[in-house]
Amino acid sequence: MSSLHIVCPHCHAINRIPSERLAQRPRCGQCKVALFSGQPLELTGNSFQRHISRNDIPVVVDFWASWCGPCKMMAPAYAQAAGKLEPQVRLAKLNTEQEQGIASQFNIRSIPTLIIFKGGSEIARQSGAMSAGDIISWIRSHI
Ligand SMILES: [Zn+2]
Repeated sequence: MSSLHIVCPHCHAINRIPSERLAQRPRCGQCKVALFSGQPLELTGNSFQRHISRNDIPVVVDFWASWCGPCKMMAPAYAQAAGKLEPQVRLAKLNTEQEQGIASQFNIRSIPTLIIFKGGSEIARQSGAMSAGDIISWIRSHI
């Protein structure tokens, strides 16, 4: 029986979930909150590394900022994509104004930029606003 490590979006505990239970609305063993809410998870400097490196599912990060019009335009599409792609993929966001160190570590030159991480490594990136359908097909084509 295979199982997957899933980092809780709420308390950041690492849960071990049998893969056949992934789609059955699993809850965190520690804080009991649902591991998947259908909404992108807001990462900070403290939680970023843990989520991209300790999740066994791919993690997509939307690098955004509040002053960026296209980022705001894409936000509802990105949330819609989270609802469709979870629990096979975790969708997350990182505010590049608040977390400039991470933004420069990943050489974010324009926003919005989406990066797909698998096992802590970047496997694809795409800059510019996309529709929900484009986000979903771009992610599915890389995982
Ligand atoms: Zn938790």
